Amino acid sequence: MSAGFNDDAKEQVRQAVDIVELVGEHIQLQKRGRMFLGLCPWHEDNRPSLQVNPDRQSWKCWVCDVGGDVFSFAMRQEGLEFREALELLADKTGITLPRRGKAVEPGGPDDRKALFQAMQWAETAYHEYLVSSAEAGPAREYLAERQITPESIAAYGIGFAPNEWQWLTDRAAGGGPSVEVLQAIGALVKSEKKGRIYDRFRGRVLFPIRDASGRPIAFGGRILPAYEDDESAKYINSSETRIFTKSMNVYGLDVARDHINTDIPVLVMEGYTDVLIAHQQGFQNAVAVLGTALGEDHVKLLKRFGDTIVLVLDGDAAGQRRASEVLDLFIAAQVELRILVLPENMDPCDFLLERGSEAFQQSIDSAVDALEYRVQVAIRGIDLANDTHRANESLESILASLAHAPVPRTSTPQAFRLRQQQMIGRLARLFSVPEIDIRGRLNELRSPEQAPWESENEMGSREFPPLTPVEIELFEIFVAQPDLVADALAKIKDEKLTTTTARYLMSTYRSARQRGEEVDFSSILTKIDDPGLKLVLVELDESSYNKASSVQEDGSQRLSGLVAGFHDEESQQQSRRTLDRLANNQVPADEEKDILEQLLEKERLRRGLSSPKDG
Ligand SMILES: [Zn+2]
Repeated sequence: MSAGFNDDAKEQVRQAVDIVELVGEHIQLQKRGRMFLGLCPWHEDNRPSLQVNPDRQSWKCWVCDVGGDVFSFAMRQEGLEFREALELLADKTGITLPRRGKAVEPGGPDDRKALFQAMQWAETAYHEYLVSSAEAGPAREYLAERQITPESIAAYGIGFAPNEWQWLTDRAAGGGPSVEVLQAIGALVKSEKKGRIYDRFRGRVLFPIRDASGRPIAFGGRILPAYEDDESAKYINSSETRIFTKSMNVYGLDVARDHINTDIPVLVMEGYTDVLIAHQQGFQNAVAVLGTALGEDHVKLLKRFGDTIVLVLDGDAAGQRRASEVLDLFIAAQVELRILVLPENMDPCDFLLERGSEAFQQSIDSAVDALEYRVQVAIRGIDLANDTHRANESLESILASLAHAPVPRTSTPQAFRLRQQQMIGRLARLFSVPEIDIRGRLNELRSPEQAPWESENEMGSREFPPLTPVEIELFEIFVAQPDLVADALAKIKDEKLTTTTARYLMSTYRSARQRGEEVDFSSILTKIDDPGLKLVLVELDESSYNKASSVQEDGSQRLSGLVAGFHDEESQQQSRRTLDRLANNQVPADEEKDILEQLLEKERLRRGLSSPKDG
């Protein structure tokens, strides 16, 4: 499961970061017994549900069902990918990570740290120019007209790039970043014809785009109306760079993340000014996509912070068309999505300024479920009772959307499954088609490769099917008594394990062992990069602790029982076949008693070995 990052580096970082300290930087923790408890930031938490275990260096929220080690905490808290979390924690502790691939020249255009620093430098330079230079007067007026307050301008680092070709280059010459680095962040561009390097954002009001941890990574630029001409786009963003991918970032998330939780949705808008006005009016849970439609990666990002997305669409035709485009995606992404279409020719900014925040809140509350909205769009203007042809067509298009949804299974959120069932019922009534026919057609439309656990969960990782009771017992022994692992690995074949989850765990232990590395809980936890699998291991650790006496005292005896159980599997299958024969009266009466006694004896033996202290 390790994505090839150097295990030594991970191990070094893991040992240097204390989980209690790390979590304590974000959440107030109190010591209770062997644990530390704090309020979970990811749900509306009244009694502390986030638990940190200093002995095991693990954490868990029982309500959100998330947990892991220092890496998965940083991933979740900062909205990072594994590698980024590793880098963040390494930076914190002064550990230098080995570079992948070719060596990166420090301070050069490939050095991500240098790019972040250059972005910060450029943000400050443009911001200072906006607030203090006489030439930026028209830009300040523009923002004032848009009702963006000086407080917002300061807090969001809004800036202005003078309408000159060389301003940034000249300014950088006095001790700022190199031209190459400024090119690498997309602030300077090279003209294709003459090879001249010039300022990309000249004449634009600049909205710094920050990542979830608040680091500026790009700019969004609105041309000042005075400089608008036929050739210039009204809005432009930084090009994609080593630190910025527009499909994976949203504007305002650094602020919104603290205002989104299981009860408060994230509001997704289309413009920087929409977000700024929304934040000013108390809707700090608003973000904006960056000149692109909402995509799968955005959803993944947003799902790290909350469960519900309200897509706020401008009340124009383009806005409404977009609604249909993203619906399929949302259904597939298993997110609670609501659609709010504003009245005609209004964007969120207009709406808030004209009608106020109370009316806006009411609109949000009345936003309809994505599926409901999909139906409304599909049947608009169709006489369902009389125009059977068009009614069928619209039903078919709705089912095509629904078919993208994952097949309901135990790990699917209850609410989502319920919604699907309700939807089928609703479609049946609406189109006067039997539910069974709708389900049948839905199954036909579903692609065969939609295997239950092939989809991705909210952390962008694979989902792990629950372990079987035998597997749980096995790995509880592994985490409680690592000295028994070697013996178990030698005796148990991976193919005896039923779930993919167990196989992943087994192969992690096996490869650690083969490389002569430690197989204790923390070491194994560190080797796993996937937050979902980390959680499985933390849960095993907890359950084994709670059963401490039996798992730890009798670990080796229980393990032999399990090993015997795996070997016994074939004879068990035989028993099962015999039982089937018994159940179906295929056994002559005189043989029946003997067979039953044999089976009972076998069962007694098996149970006696694997759980000697039961009862
Ligand atoms: Zn929680």
